[in-house]
Amino acid sequence: MQKIHNYINGEFIAPVDGKYLDNYEPATGQIYSQIAQSNANDLELAVKAAELAQQDWADLPSEQRSILLMKLAAAIESASEELAKAEAIDNGKPISFARNVDCYRSAANIRFFANAATQFSTDCHDMGKIGVNYTLRQPVGIVACISPWNLPLYLFTWKIAPALATGNCVIAKPSEITPMTAFIFSRLCIEVGIPKGVINILHGSGPSIGAPLVDHPKVKAVSFTGGSATGRAIAASVAPKLKKFSLELGGKNPSLVFADCNFEATVKEVVRSAFSNQGQICLCASRIYVEQSIYEKFKSAFVELVEQIKIGDPLDETTQHGALVSQAHFDKVYSYIQLAQQEGGKIISGGKKVTLSGRCGKGYFIEPTLVEGLSDDCRVNQEEVFGPLCSIQPFIDEKDALSKANGTEYGLAVSIWSQDISRCHRLSSQLDFGIVWINTWLLRDLRTPFGGMKSSGMGREGGFEAMRFFTEPKNVCIKY
Ligand code: NAD
Repeated sequence: MQKIHNYINGEFIAPVDGKYLDNYEPATGQIYSQIAQSNANDLELAVKAAELAQQDWADLPSEQRSILLMKLAAAIESASEELAKAEAIDNGKPISFARNVDCYRSAANIRFFANAATQFSTDCHDMGKIGVNYTLRQPVGIVACISPWNLPLYLFTWKIAPALATGNCVIAKPSEITPMTAFIFSRLCIEVGIPKGVINILHGSGPSIGAPLVDHPKVKAVSFTGGSATGRAIAASVAPKLKKFSLELGGKNPSLVFADCNFEATVKEVVRSAFSNQGQICLCASRIYVEQSIYEKFKSAFVELVEQIKIGDPLDETTQHGALVSQAHFDKVYSYIQLAQQEGGKIISGGKKVTLSGRCGKGYFIEPTLVEGLSDDCRVNQEEVFGPLCSIQPFIDEKDALSKANGTEYGLAVSIWSQDISRCHRLSSQLDFGIVWINTWLLRDLRTPFGGMKSSGMGREGGFEAMRFFTEPKNVCIKY
């Protein structure tokens, strides 16, 4: 059986203690590879490699770092079919989605920050006749990048690219649930000649390798994307050590649909926002609020579209809805579907486990599910489910919509659907979310600040925000 090894100092290395975890294919429920279960011993090797590489990488002119990153982006593009297939097998997502979203964005992330490396500049504060200040921005040193399973290579590259572009050496930990594309990525790093030790990839579970990684005294900054509970645990570990950290966490994202929306386009896009990637995108809408005058019409049109979504083998090009990522996640999502009914909700679309014929007979498939009739404060409307379960409710007016949207502990993303531009601006300023989309969803410009408020995170990624996170500003003051 294939073994997924660590990538340390430019080489594939078996875990020091020889321990492995099983890796499952979600569409079949079968074990298909084994993952290094790394621990503090493997971490020491990675830290040593990164320490050796750090100064040379930091000293390399940014143009040279940019050229290497451009090669890496091109290598991802060349390996796109291999990566898309690997992502579909490892994660359960449809191969077309893996190709068009995951692989496309992984290359785009690296290319974007390769460009940013040559464009990033620092401030100068002129004191007139007295003197002048200029700010140096220097790499933090060795940094940890920890990513989740839902967009495996996409989020992995989103973190490591700005870290590398700014001259840091990286120890990255992909999710143990979806390690395969980071493993392939290690090979691409070798192929394009990323210097040894500049990037090191350690596999394994959160407690075994994630926790020691963030805790290591030589690791100076932590960039984390994952659940809010894990984010809090990481903050509790690193804050007393005064390390820099950035947390991209969970969401409970609303969609606010007003009666004056562009109806057909809105129905289509809100369906996409709810169920893309089986509802496993931190930005997916899971609470749909519709102005009461169009509630019934919108609901019928929405259900009609949802029922056309094709569930199937992730490797089938025509599949639109694949498997959930793991047995544990499948059980969690299904338990929330049951909870929705216990909390007084009525399933108006989906709600069932799906058993496919053939090789996917034991896969973790659940229908895209829509529930109505829930109260604002029930658990299903308050807690992150992170799967194909969405609630729909009417709202009375703008004030009611705003209060419903803001009424959870999360504040990642919201979308507003209305042709009244004044209303859209008015609401945008009052919504407690890091990202507001108007008449669109998941339209991304990589230069913009990305992240959430409240329990959805701390700090922002994207553009120069990320470049600033991975550098230490040093002010130099000169008196004339
Ligand atoms: P998770 O928190 O369970 O795991 C994320 C990563 O952290 C994994 O690599 C895991 O091994 C590691 N980890 C676990 N415990 C750790 C510890 N104590 N110390 C260090 N690392 C540890 O999250 P998940 O289930 O993989 O991902 C789903 C969650 O991620 C959802 O809540 C989703 O909303 C969130 N997410 C957020 C964003 C965003 O940009 N805000 C993007 C994608 C996913």
